[in-house]
Amino acid sequence: MALINMKDLLAHAKQHKYAVGAFNITNLDFVDHIMDAAVESNSPVIMQLAEVHFRYLNLEDIAPILINAAKNVSVPVCIHLDHGKSLKTMIRAIRAGFTSIMYDGSEHPLEENIKNTAEVVKIAHSVGVSVEGELGNVGGEAVGVEAATPHTASEEFYTRVEDAVRFNDETGLDTLAISIGNVHGLYKGDPKLDFARLTAIRDAVDIPLVLHGGSGISDDDFKKAVSLGICKINFYTGISQAAMIKVHKFIQEHPKSISYPDLAKLAMSELKKVVMDRMDVFGSKGQCAADKTLCITCSDTSCGLDDPRIKPEAKTVVYQDLVDKISLEVLNNLNQK
Ligand SMILES: [Zn+2]
Repeated sequence: MALINMKDLLAHAKQHKYAVGAFNITNLDFVDHIMDAAVESNSPVIMQLAEVHFRYLNLEDIAPILINAAKNVSVPVCIHLDHGKSLKTMIRAIRAGFTSIMYDGSEHPLEENIKNTAEVVKIAHSVGVSVEGELGNVGGEAVGVEAATPHTASEEFYTRVEDAVRFNDETGLDTLAISIGNVHGLYKGDPKLDFARLTAIRDAVDIPLVLHGGSGISDDDFKKAVSLGICKINFYTGISQAAMIKVHKFIQEHPKSISYPDLAKLAMSELKKVVMDRMDVFGSKGQCAADKTLCITCSDTSCGLDDPRIKPEAKTVVYQDLVDKISLEVLNNLNQK
């Protein structure tokens, strides 16, 4: 069993100066192959479902599959909601057993983003779920059926250091997604990350920082960003694109094939390869082998199994059969307001 919340996962990453890859699940096949990549790389991993991808996978249907997959391995796995937009989505994810949620209020004015994020933090922390917020705005475009338009980041939406300090102080969040030249989807030209800004934010706030829009950033820039305090890297477009390149090639080479499983197998083995490669670049490869305390097994009684759900400090969070209790906790929180 190795279900873990983001706070505990990234505390280790921050301490040992590596980043954990957060890979979006948009298809059931992704789950097995990302988990296999993590196990073979001896790496912690974050499997995340974005609200914008609910059209591919229903949150309540995929949650038990992700939780079971996590429980079957000894590497730590965080199950995370990516870019949640409303309180309703946050509560759905908590009820379904996600160990971490992102509230993305970056499109709102600062005051509103702070107010909403603080509310989400209060509810999530009461049940041991960690919270990621976003400040500044990471633009770009989610990958869809049509070819994505490449984007460049706009400096006016970069994260301001003084805002990051206020945001951290007033919300009590666990991890912060920042905008420093990164964009979602495809980059127009080479991405130029503002490392001076990253350093200033890292020096001003003490929580692990998150880089969205990982696909397209060079290995050298990833390594530099990690050395300067990035502890979580969101990476999706790159794995989707790598799988699609294989699909196009397969169809070209086997125009008469009617074997979807063979096509899917080829695409997914490519996805796994890219995930393993990223784990290597992000520095998370081998972390579980190097530090056995990071790996959790059912026989490990120090992992907080007695009453882990309501202890935020617990290393392992067990949600099975606790949905009602969590709901009650959330309702109590809401009633107290
Ligand atoms: Zn994102």
